[in-house]
Amino acid sequence: MLQRQRFTPLLPSGFILLLAGLACAFSARISGDWAMAISWLPYALAAVGLWLAIQFSKRQLLLSVVLTLAGYLLVQSFLQRPISEPLVRYVYTLLILALPLALLLNQLAMERGLSHPNAMTLYSLVVLGFLVAVVSYLMQGQALVASLDAYFAPRGYDGMVISTNGLVLSLLLLLASFITFFFQKGIIAAGLFCVVLANLLPLYFLDVPFISSIFAIAALVIALLTGIKDSHDLAYRDALTGLNGRRKLFERLAGMSRHYSLAMLDIDHFKSFNDTYGHDVGDDVLAMVASKIAQVKGGGEVFRYGGEEFTLIFPGMGASDAQTHLNDVRELIATTPFVIRDKTKRKQGTAEQRGKGGKGTKTVQITVSIGVSEKDKGQELPEQIIKAADKALYKAKKQGRNCVVAG
Ligand code: GH3
Ligand code: MG
Ligand code: MG
Repeated sequence: MLQRQRFTPLLPSGFILLLAGLACAFSARISGDWAMAISWLPYALAAVGLWLAIQFSKRQLLLSVVLTLAGYLLVQSFLQRPISEPLVRYVYTLLILALPLALLLNQLAMERGLSHPNAMTLYSLVVLGFLVAVVSYLMQGQALVASLDAYFAPRGYDGMVISTNGLVLSLLLLLASFITFFFQKGIIAAGLFCVVLANLLPLYFLDVPFISSIFAIAALVIALLTGIKDSHDLAYRDALTGLNGRRKLFERLAGMSRHYSLAMLDIDHFKSFNDTYGHDVGDDVLAMVASKIAQVKGGGEVFRYGGEEFTLIFPGMGASDAQTHLNDVRELIATTPFVIRDKTKRKQGTAEQRGKGGKGTKTVQITVSIGVSEKDKGQELPEQIIKAADKALYKAKKQGRNCVVAG
């Protein structure tokens, strides 16, 4: 179940790659205006991609677009000639190794916007790598290609021009890209992996007509759709906890036709916690508690309802089964010592004491109360179910807190 969920974000991008593959099967028939359109479409898509990347300040989208476009330009300008030419072999070897490497680095570095230092480092690496490649060729082209040939001499069988070493190394980079997706999870990670795949595939089968145009289009469409989906999701996500917010909750509930349970969760005595430690520390704890709630099992979906209140829905599950999973969450939170920055001590402490794990930090125990209800006859509207869960939550508070009550 968990593994299947991990791979589902690959489906949209995988579908686009499949379409690109199918297009290649018929690409020999492409001619005239279609040929023209297919060769120019990557530039139009790249322009849209760049515009979006700048609008949303997304470095991963920007570099995906720029690197795909650079790869496409190099293929169009240099790889339409026989591989026996040294310069063609040089460009080919660079493309097969440096392009997936640069895309992999883009995937590994966290998204922090266009102008964050980590973005600047990546831009510098890409530009520097490109300059070194050009200058090295200009200064000692023949000798360089001869030494590259020792490792990456093209084999030229069945339309595959790649050397065994080139194939193995590029596949290792592709594997690293896949592993990165596997651990990063989600739609962005899937999109970035598929962009690497879409850039590499045409380099393996260069003699297929229009393959570089078709896969450049696929890579750019994947990058664009991933960027748009990410920005769309961001509008629904709560910035402090990273969870979906109330807007998404009501959208989800409106589209839910089957049976489900719904729980309201509220942190106990949070007001006095804020009063003691300050609002900033309260925010930190809120985010930590949210990450624990998100670990709920049983297919539970978590939303920040507002303030220190969270909503959980369990599609297809009755309240009594949901109660078991909710109780696990309650217990997990109650038994987790949360490490906080203790501001009251920080002010008095020395610089050393303020350090991580020093006397400026402290652990606190947090508990939560939960009320759960389910969709039922006479209680079918989302508002009614939320109201019933709220009533149960009130009972849980009255019963002394740190408990789950069904109602
Ligand atoms: P109870 O056990 O009855 O729930 O007591 P409580 O103090 O938690 O009471 P209540 O739920 O009414 O209090 C909500 C408090 O949560 C008010 C506010 O101080 C705090 N709070 C709400 N949203 C935030 C937030 O985003 N950040 C921080 N730091 N505190 C918040
Ligand atoms: Mg509250
Ligand atoms: Mg509370």
